[in-house]
Amino acid sequence: MDQRTIDIFAWIRALGEDRGELQYAALPRLASLLASETGTLAWESRGWVERPAGGSEVMMLRVLASARPMLTCVNCLEPVAVDLAVDRTLRIVGDEASAARLDEQEPEIDVIAGSRRFDLLELIEDEAIMALPPLARHDQCEVPGRWHDEDDEPEAESSGALAALASLKKGSPGGVQ
Ligand SMILES: [Zn+2]
Repeated sequence: MDQRTIDIFAWIRALGEDRGELQYAALPRLASLLASETGTLAWESRGWVERPAGGSEVMMLRVLASARPMLTCVNCLEPVAVDLAVDRTLRIVGDEASAARLDEQEPEIDVIAGSRRFDLLELIEDEAIMALPPLARHDQCEVPGRWHDEDDEPEAESSGALAALASLKKGSPGGVQ
């Protein structure tokens, strides 16, 4: 478990950069919302320090993720692929109290508390869950659509078969009797 966590402050100071791919199955809270655990989420993250003139340094973290997981269509209950995209820039502060204070003072800034045992993948999973659409549906559900396709197309074939049967019947009376 220790391998999964990093000292986020040291990582940002060192201009940390990391990326990877995660199986949905490795993200159980996300996976529980999907129609299938098969597939991966690609992610990357970058840290840097900003020094506003006259101000103290500010630690920044950017998190990107993309995936195309399957959700359950609300119309037909079959799986439907959705686009999942995360692009968040966060300010990292020393503790929860500072995060809460800054959140109150400057609500337009996304701020979270850092930690020396920061779970970056947990943050990525949180962001991915928030980026999932609340409802998913096919543009056109396949289940009712199929009926029409199969009704229309074989008509030529069946009329051909009927014609063959008809000609067989026509010919047979004389032949059998
Ligand atoms: Zn559907």
